[in-house]
Amino acid sequence: MKKIIVWFRKDLRIHDHAALFEAAQQGCIIPVFIWPSEQEFEYADSIAAKWSLHQSLISLRQNLAAKGIPLIIRKGNIQKELLQLIKETSADAVFYNRCYEPFMVQSLFEIEIQLSKSKIEVQSFHGNLLYQQFNILNKNHEPYKVFTSYWKRTMQEHVSTPYAIPKMTSTLATLPASLEIHELQLLSTNSLESRLDQHWEIGEQEAISHWTEFLEYGLNKYERYKDFPSAQATSLLSPYLVWGNISVKSIWHSIQSHEIQGPSTETFLRQLVWRDFAYDQLIHFPTMPIKPLREAYNTFPWEGSSSDFNKWKLGQTGYPLVDAGMRELLATGYMHNRVRMVVASFLVKHLLVPWTEGSKWFTQKLIDFDVANNAMGWQWTTGCGIDSAPFFRIFNPVAQGKRFDPNGDYVRQWIPELKNLPQKFIHKPWEASQEILALAHLELGKDYPFPIVEHNFARKRALQAYNLIKKA
Ligand SMILES: Cc1cc2nc3c(=O)[nH]c(=O)nc-3n(C[C@H](O)[C@H](O)[C@H](O)COP(=O)(O)OP(=O)(O)OC[C@H]3O[C@@H](n4cnc5c(N)ncnc54)[C@H](O)[C@@H]3O)c2cc1C
Repeated sequence: MKKIIVWFRKDLRIHDHAALFEAAQQGCIIPVFIWPSEQEFEYADSIAAKWSLHQSLISLRQNLAAKGIPLIIRKGNIQKELLQLIKETSADAVFYNRCYEPFMVQSLFEIEIQLSKSKIEVQSFHGNLLYQQFNILNKNHEPYKVFTSYWKRTMQEHVSTPYAIPKMTSTLATLPASLEIHELQLLSTNSLESRLDQHWEIGEQEAISHWTEFLEYGLNKYERYKDFPSAQATSLLSPYLVWGNISVKSIWHSIQSHEIQGPSTETFLRQLVWRDFAYDQLIHFPTMPIKPLREAYNTFPWEGSSSDFNKWKLGQTGYPLVDAGMRELLATGYMHNRVRMVVASFLVKHLLVPWTEGSKWFTQKLIDFDVANNAMGWQWTTGCGIDSAPFFRIFNPVAQGKRFDPNGDYVRQWIPELKNLPQKFIHKPWEASQEILALAHLELGKDYPFPIVEHNFARKRALQAYNLIKKA
């Protein structure tokens, strides 16, 4: 019987797993997860993402063990570890689902050459996105640059039917060496971790029951409330999609076959397609996480100070909506999408700190850190990406607060020092009189900062900077 290594990466599940399913049909399987040295370096400070990976591996190992299959865990150079495992197990083939992180794509190229030299069969499968990106090109056979056109084009494509959980066999008499999950040292002693435990339960079963509940009770309210951070009306699926606890194709099909269809359905599906669009960009422009897609932005006159950057990180800018978002991130590893846009815009446009710095902070703190979505989000907000927000649209954090957190519930949740302020001043405490501040037990400059930059001044300064690159 053929021995097939199933190489797990960002697809830590057993449902709708193309490589696992096909391998199980063709032979006996040897599942392996390798924590690559490159990723270990890149994720050195990514406490939340690594915590989530740790939980996802526990879940995958349990699910495979329940089928009688042990998960082999390794770390180090991917090529070396794979070749070593092939030698130890006399495997005939390696099957995997495609991933699109630039370092993965690069190392795969070399691995496939090595494996074919050793006469090892290699098969890759479409698995972690809705569509096969290389098929989604415009009439000129180029990648799409506008989301609406991309969305319309994807509507003509079929999302392949999810795979069932396969029957699996393993015939290995002696098990190859495996690390214990804790030996990957994904957990740190940072206090964020204990808070992550309180907010998230990560794993395949958890992802499926979380999704089933949202589909049943949350989806119909999505369209109406998704932009209001205190409404908790979004799916919170992103932490489960990152390591593939749940398959995006299964989500798509369960929506399509759900009896209730309405405006929320299409809006939600569009969001999932934004995720594909982000990967489409990453595939075609692999430097996207570090370089602006619009070249003119290479010479953008950033002048932000490290002191302002630190205040932003800690939620001490004096703008309540921005600070609430940054504190939510520190406390939970998550931030609502609307607030992500506001805090990112504030960093880049009000403080003139490079978007790459903000993106690095998100890489470290987000439980749903995703290289494609994060890069697209930052480039979109900065205005240097494909189909991005025009630079002259500069979010006013007070106006955004009034519109999307009208009662100030979100601000009060994350900034307890402002909890007694009347609604009228919750997004602009500096306009409250001394009397009102005293009644709210708030001393500005002591309990909560004054704004670190004045909005109109910041807006003008940002537009001047923008004009400089427009002229260049
Ligand atoms: C500056 C910035 C950085 C971001 N960084 C990340 C990141 O590292 N990881 C990440 O998953 N998302 C990122 N996003 C996109 C978005 O904020 C999150 O996907 C969303 O908040 C996740 O919450 P949810 O699952 O409840 O979303 P829902 O609204 O319920 O959407 C469902 C799913 O659709 C996808 N989706 C939704 N909005 C977007 C979007 N704008 N772009 C791409 N996919 C989307 C996600 O996979 C999400 O889980 C970023 C956005 C910005 C503006």
